[in-house]
Amino acid sequence: MRLVDSHCHLPLISPDIGSIDDIVLRASQSGIEHMLCVSVDLESFPTVLATAEKYQNVSASVGVHPNTEGKVTDPSVEQILMHCDSEVVVAVGETGLDYYRNDEPPKSQQSRLRNHITAAKECDKPLIIHCRDAARDLIEILRNEQAEQVGGVMHCFVEDWETAKAAIDLGFYISFSGIVTFKNATQLKDVAKQVPADRLLVETDSPWLAPVPKRGKQNEPAYVCHTAQYLAELRNCDSEEFGEVTTENFYRLFPLAKAQKSEKY
Ligand SMILES: [Zn+2]
Ligand SMILES: [Zn+2]
Repeated sequence: MRLVDSHCHLPLISPDIGSIDDIVLRASQSGIEHMLCVSVDLESFPTVLATAEKYQNVSASVGVHPNTEGKVTDPSVEQILMHCDSEVVVAVGETGLDYYRNDEPPKSQQSRLRNHITAAKECDKPLIIHCRDAARDLIEILRNEQAEQVGGVMHCFVEDWETAKAAIDLGFYISFSGIVTFKNATQLKDVAKQVPADRLLVETDSPWLAPVPKRGKQNEPAYVCHTAQYLAELRNCDSEEFGEVTTENFYRLFPLAKAQKSEKY
């Protein structure tokens, strides 16, 4: 099956299960043809960038997660843009709103999100959006800031269909992580059945959220096949076709990842 992992955090995976070299190799051997290694703060961005520069099948993003417990630099638009320059940086994020963890006030999360959207429009790169328990505010900001000019992905989607629909209408893709394979994720499974095929993506969000049957273990990009297999069955879709469609969706949303791949091979 042809597959990509649209969202992972390679430098955060525990060395107990192998070096980044090992993990990228295991992914390639499992047929994962590309990985998007996502930035969570500017302090660790150099490692994310170096990883993408080292491997032909890894791209990077630049951004600061909405929940950083006040420990990291709040990025200005200029700072984000400065790091967008590289061609292996294919997206801006992850950014968004997370009122569940609640360790940063909503107002500061919102202004941080607006900065990311401004930067994304300026450098014309799509957004990687993290949203938890904040759907209403998030959609309103995406609309008001005209995020549809660049589009992007709602990563590790866990909200309801109404939110998915609103994001899709703004040109966004919906990416599912291992959560959709969890027994109690009934509502999410319903949402996953309804997302149009041309807006679907799959991800691991590794090192977290390993899909069934690896649940509870340290997650890694190779495991995206379990989520893809599960979603294909849920949607009554041939798994080869599911892999093909989600891979093509990925390169459509992140054309720079496609360029990077063809340039280096
Ligand atoms: Zn996230
Ligand atoms: Zn993430």
